[in-house]
Amino acid sequence: MYWIHRAEHRWYFVLRVSGHGAHHSFKKLNALNFGLNHPLELFFLAIPAALMEVIFGVGLAAVGASILLVIQASIVHSNLNMSSKWVDWVFTTNRHHIRHHSVVLEESNTNYGCGTLIWDRVFGTFIDSSTRECGVGPTEPTLVQKLFMPVREPSDTTVAPS
Ligand SMILES: [Zn+2]
Repeated sequence: MYWIHRAEHRWYFVLRVSGHGAHHSFKKLNALNFGLNHPLELFFLAIPAALMEVIFGVGLAAVGASILLVIQASIVHSNLNMSSKWVDWVFTTNRHHIRHHSVVLEESNTNYGCGTLIWDRVFGTFIDSSTRECGVGPTEPTLVQKLFMPVREPSDTTVAPS
């Protein structure tokens, strides 16, 4: 998941075909918009779980891990202050994930882990600071604009380097 997410932010083409920009377009995060991804992105998000099933045949363990990931994703997109020194070291909290949703490209290209920050710490993408504004531009795209983001990005948006 970490590498798929990082690729979405690193390469403009991957960002466009995945529709990940639509997920980043919200000006204000809440516990429900963790699941508001472009339909194309749902395919990308299912790849790790599908690979785990094909390679290891994990079955119910994959279902359980997916449920925990949904709960964790809801928490990190919420506006609840749930940070603590020890929890923040291992798990992604909303403070670090809100930075990932920053409207500033350099801030957005950090803290890729949605469940854990361990991979961000290992691969040097973890940043411990907050952000002032979320989104992909000065305004939030309409629902129709979000749906068409893989083929036509609104002119005032920036999520990945082109
Ligand atoms: Zn992202």
